[in-house]
Amino acid sequence: MEITLLFFSVLIGLAFGSFFGCCIYRLPREISLLKPAFSFCPTCQKSIAWYYNIPVFGWLWLRGRCHECGERISPRYFLVEAITAAFFTAAFFRFGFPLMIPIWVFGSLLILTTFIDIEFFLIPDILSKPGIAAGIAASLLFPELQGTSSRLLAGGLSIGGVLVGGGLLYLVSELGKLAFGRYKVILASPTPFSFQANLPDDARIVIDDEPFLWEEHFFRKKDRIRIRAEEVTINGEDFQGIDLTFYHDRLETVRGTISLTDLRSVVGRTAYAEFPREAMGLGDVKLIAAIGAFTGWVGVLFTIPVASLIGAIYGVGTILIGRRDWSSKIPFGPYLAIGAIIWIFWGKEFLNWYRSFG
Ligand SMILES: [Zn+2]
Repeated sequence: MEITLLFFSVLIGLAFGSFFGCCIYRLPREISLLKPAFSFCPTCQKSIAWYYNIPVFGWLWLRGRCHECGERISPRYFLVEAITAAFFTAAFFRFGFPLMIPIWVFGSLLILTTFIDIEFFLIPDILSKPGIAAGIAASLLFPELQGTSSRLLAGGLSIGGVLVGGGLLYLVSELGKLAFGRYKVILASPTPFSFQANLPDDARIVIDDEPFLWEEHFFRKKDRIRIRAEEVTINGEDFQGIDLTFYHDRLETVRGTISLTDLRSVVGRTAYAEFPREAMGLGDVKLIAAIGAFTGWVGVLFTIPVASLIGAIYGVGTILIGRRDWSSKIPFGPYLAIGAIIWIFWGKEFLNWYRSFG
């Protein structure tokens, strides 16, 4: 029985890992998970034969290169398959059947969001939002997940985790906004700027050939870009010395409001502009809410400081060895995932150790 379950855990981990490799490539690129149904080489687009697609071994056998075109295939596939199989197996040993099932779901969420965040600096809502629901459902179905036998208490602890985790990081992101405030561009002399749009998904302000993308500056409804224009032509009409306030969907001036879809051209000269700056993305807020749904509020209070500590050590370490400079950003999601995994496997031991002082 045990051996069968162990064997089953490894196989199912490999199978899911292979599927996750595909999700990590396709989800952020908005390629359907179902079509094409076969795996394909990202370079030559040729489908990959099933025998080369066997998790872990296929990649090793081909030494990380496409059989058709010889281009490198990202080691990410191999890593995701190996990590998923290792996680599923470790969860089987630690928790056994049936508690390993919700832990597998939780681990899958963490693995998917980690690899997407590393590559794209984003955590898709399509993972984090259902993750919150899955964590609450898992706590009701498997109250042992929250260390209790009462479904009601488990549900309460889970919702508490969503609120404490999401609330804390939301507060941090708001405080960060206050602390870092706005990013100001001050130029020595009036410099050409223009607004360029390729709606619905791309809009930007270009000041002196430097683009400021909408997706990097707008996170909330009230976020705005302010430009003090010495002179500007808006849809063919000339103005002198007015303030332009761009919101994600419109431009406001003293002369009124114009929807971005009606904005044909904005060209002018400016010496001063302000951009909103984000200390932390809302993706992280939704991810920690999902983590809280699985770990409860105590788990969240463990995960956030541990993630921050590991992130800070990595951040300072890579600067010290010269692999990164101060301004380059690092995603926070992977550290939250590492903190959560430490909590899943060693949280109880930590609590016992912590209580031994009191
Ligand atoms: Zn190829």
